[in-house]
Amino acid sequence: MSESMPVEISPVYEGERIRKQDMYVELGGPKVEHKCELVLSRSMDEVEDGKVSIVGPDLNELKEGDSYPYAVLIEVAGKMVEKDLESVIERRVHDFSNYIEGYMHLNQRYDIWCRISKKAYNKGLNSFKWIGLALAKLYKAEMPFIEKIQTTFYTDPEKVKEVYEQALKVYEARDARARGMRDEDVDTFYSCVLCQSFAPQHVCIITPQRVSLCGAINWFDARAAARVDPKGPIIPVEKGECLDSIRGEYTGANEIVEKRSLGANKRFWLYSAFGFPHTSCGCFETILFYIPEVDGFGCVDRGFKTPTVNGLPFSSMATQVGGGIQTEGFLGIGMEYYRSPKFMQADGGWNRVVWIASTLRARIEDAIPAHLKDKIATEKEASDIESLKKFLVERGHPLAKKIEEMEAVKVEEEKPAEAVPAAMPGVTVQGLPLPAGGAGGGGMRITLKGAKVKIGQLIIKKD
Ligand code: SF4
Repeated sequence: MSESMPVEISPVYEGERIRKQDMYVELGGPKVEHKCELVLSRSMDEVEDGKVSIVGPDLNELKEGDSYPYAVLIEVAGKMVEKDLESVIERRVHDFSNYIEGYMHLNQRYDIWCRISKKAYNKGLNSFKWIGLALAKLYKAEMPFIEKIQTTFYTDPEKVKEVYEQALKVYEARDARARGMRDEDVDTFYSCVLCQSFAPQHVCIITPQRVSLCGAINWFDARAAARVDPKGPIIPVEKGECLDSIRGEYTGANEIVEKRSLGANKRFWLYSAFGFPHTSCGCFETILFYIPEVDGFGCVDRGFKTPTVNGLPFSSMATQVGGGIQTEGFLGIGMEYYRSPKFMQADGGWNRVVWIASTLRARIEDAIPAHLKDKIATEKEASDIESLKKFLVERGHPLAKKIEEMEAVKVEEEKPAEAVPAAMPGVTVQGLPLPAGGAGGGGMRITLKGAKVKIGQLIIKKD
């Protein structure tokens, strides 16, 4: 790397976490509304190779310890650079940024969360220009089809908001491309292992109707990446034989999952949260979680900060979902998958969804079928399981009958056993006269082994 670069650039820094007490500043993240990263393809004459621009205060003009709105715009050009590659190039911002010592990068698209460490700042990482130069070198080394690259960092709040709004439109246009395509219409799926640096046995299978869980790579993006970089992390997967069209099990996908997870996982059911669910790394846009008390699913996005209906916040469930391990009932999924006709097809699809965080609902309202619009709760209608049950029954959710049946069984199980104590002379228990005389007087002994006895009311009165 460049001699003048003040910090080291190496994959060994991937996974480096910068804790609050060690950070110089935070860029993006949960405390600010506007943040994003965006890669756009341009013509050769629109890009000045190696140029780094800063719109707003530079790193050395930011106040230590604070959080700032942040946008990174990367413009690329080259004979082989096409629009379909934008997402794939953009997804690499994550790992390339994390190669920079003292610069932490989490998440993607509209949700980035970066930190500069105090140590790196004191070593000289005090300007965005260093990050821009490092990214340019890494991109050109790892993606040689990029001939020209220029980067702009935004910290001016108004400008960040402008770029953010533009970026949301670009993401939507990219996501919309695969809508209407069916998994049945193609012979090839794609597999990505870019996140194995964080979750070594995680393998993504990307189909037309199942976007990657990071939400950044759809089937078209994956196809473009595999064509231009056949030795890269994204490769084609021959679908093979369909073993189960409802659960979404294909021989080709199973083979590639087994091979690329080094045998850790052998089968994927692409349209189910049970049995052999798709694994998750840590980059998922949302979490789908099973709620056994109502036999339905809850859904929450990264932006939702308070506990969900099961009492757990996104961050707690994320540790359970991630790591490349198949966890039944917990799934990291990309936002666009909620719009797919294959969404949880084997488990009942949308009819099984009972609760959505309002932040997520605002983004996928269009995906909710009309007949369920008023039957799925957010935290405003149900903040715990009991209020959720009540809401679902009142609104006539498709699971309402089942919930009522489950409740009836529960009440039956919880009914107090008719506990009759050993006879006590002259005592009536709940109106039942007991024979007098104690143990030697013909009384009854009832032994309840392993039973939970709940007594609502015990009346003892003298005759
Ligand atoms: S989440 Fe999946 S598709 Fe997205 S970068 Fe990671 S491995 Fe690739």
